[in-house]
Amino acid sequence: MIVFLFFVPEQKNLTFIILKGLTLGALIIIFFAYAVPRDSLSKFFNNNNNKLSSASYKQSSSIIKDYYDHLISNSEEIITTMNENLSVGIYIHDDKNGVYSIQNKIPNNFVNTIDSNNKIIYNLIAKKKTQVIKKQNNDTDWQELLVEKSWRGSEAIIATPIIYKEFSIGFVLVFVQHFSKINPNDQLVIEKIVHTLTTGMEELEEIEKLIISNKFKSKLAKLNEQLDIKSDDKEFIHSVNGICRSFFQYDKLTISFSNKDNSTADIILVDGFKDDINEGNNFEIKNTIHGLAIIDNKTICSNSWYEKFPEMNRFLQNDRDLHSFKSILSVPIRINGKSTGVISLERIDSKIFSAIDINFLESLCRIFSTQVYLKNQYNKVHLSAIHDGLTGLLNHNAFLKRFDEELSRADRFNQSVGLIVLDIDKFKNINDNYGHLYGDYVLEEVSNIIAQNVRTIDVVGRFGGEEFSVLLVNTNIDDCIPMAQRIVDKISNKTFLKDGIASQITISAGMAGFPTHSDQLTNLIEKADKAMYETKSKGGNGVTISI
Ligand code: GH3
Ligand code: MG
Ligand code: MG
Repeated sequence: MIVFLFFVPEQKNLTFIILKGLTLGALIIIFFAYAVPRDSLSKFFNNNNNKLSSASYKQSSSIIKDYYDHLISNSEEIITTMNENLSVGIYIHDDKNGVYSIQNKIPNNFVNTIDSNNKIIYNLIAKKKTQVIKKQNNDTDWQELLVEKSWRGSEAIIATPIIYKEFSIGFVLVFVQHFSKINPNDQLVIEKIVHTLTTGMEELEEIEKLIISNKFKSKLAKLNEQLDIKSDDKEFIHSVNGICRSFFQYDKLTISFSNKDNSTADIILVDGFKDDINEGNNFEIKNTIHGLAIIDNKTICSNSWYEKFPEMNRFLQNDRDLHSFKSILSVPIRINGKSTGVISLERIDSKIFSAIDINFLESLCRIFSTQVYLKNQYNKVHLSAIHDGLTGLLNHNAFLKRFDEELSRADRFNQSVGLIVLDIDKFKNINDNYGHLYGDYVLEEVSNIIAQNVRTIDVVGRFGGEEFSVLLVNTNIDDCIPMAQRIVDKISNKTFLKDGIASQITISAGMAGFPTHSDQLTNLIEKADKAMYETKSKGGNGVTISI
């Protein structure tokens, strides 16, 4: 049929022309489906209803553009072949500039852009029906459509709207010098051609969606591969940012995580506008549009949140009027179903985020959640590897590691370090008298007392069963004495009370200092230990400094 249609001599009957038009359209669609590189076809979708907002759609491809021009010039050619008295202008609405722009490449009678307020066009778009408009005297709206400005008075235009998914996105204007040159079937043929054009656009939109979606899925798959419990957070967030940049159109991207008390959230990434709030800042979750997805634990997508939530701010108190971000898409980052963070995209204009945007960002958030979950698990395991399970203090090995680091540092900076070793007196009796669980409770309380009575820079460890160790950083041995004494006193003054059982204990402390007693870690421990036993030999409940 293709051979027949294109290689037999020119035919001028209506069926032939329509068949040729439809076949051309179909051919172009097939070609697009198989040959088009994975890039943007967005030129077609430049209308209000179908604004596909990702940046990926924006990547221009000269091949796509060529095919689009081909589709346009073929439509034009079919009409002019049918009737050589006709010239054609195909216009698509240009959202950015608020005008209709000509799509034909070769200049003809028509102007390049037509204002949306032109009465003829306004009428055409509103009525959505083909119209034949004869030139009227002094009709400036009619004259605005054409380059030529001297008239015979017999001119006419056949105007057909391009209806795309029920919306008028543009129109085809066909100009004739004398209205008598319009053939009876011309109007019908033009309508068919325009229909073929829009069918092509619809098919192409579907293809583009699939292409973009595949592209997105492959990016997500790559991100999935990157998931690693030990991976660098920064690198992961950088990748997420990259994906957002390629697939979404936004003025500000914000990634935040709620704090433990769930009242504030920390901002860990900002891309785009930074003058309002930036990385490292935090904001109140309550009564902020950025906190809403966390509180409601669901996606928020609105281009009128401003009116919908009149009492809500963006991040900070009274900041709703400072920067006008009208459109927002916020998706919670959920861990075990609970929202713990949020990824938000914002636009200054009121262009709403599309269903595709929502779908993409939700998928991205799922991967993000997995990464955060894995990371948390890793941290838990890692923490349990260095912390003692009962008291939460550093375990024996972790304490020794810190001790080693602190000694090197003290050596470098010519500082002193004090070591206190503490051992509970007659602790066996506690277990024997009140049971092991009660003994555990006492150990926890003792560890709390020790931790609460040193500075935050100091290091506390559980050295063994009922034995504790403390490093007093940048402190000479004489200054260590009161600190050790305070711990010993606090413990002997404490009444331990659990399940109605009250008890009292004492503890023995021994101390050695760097560099006074030794510059070797093992020596220092031995000496402090010896001093502690010295205390015990004197009846416990005291402090002894090594000799
Ligand atoms: P001393 O005054 O000589 O230090 O006597 P002590 O009884 O404190 O010392 P000993 O070494 O004889 O006994 C220590 C006890 O601490 C024995 C052990 O059952 C208990 N212990 C060690 N780890 C734990 C623990 O995690 N929980 C409980 N409940 N008891 C523990
Ligand atoms: Mg003991
Ligand atoms: Mg002991």
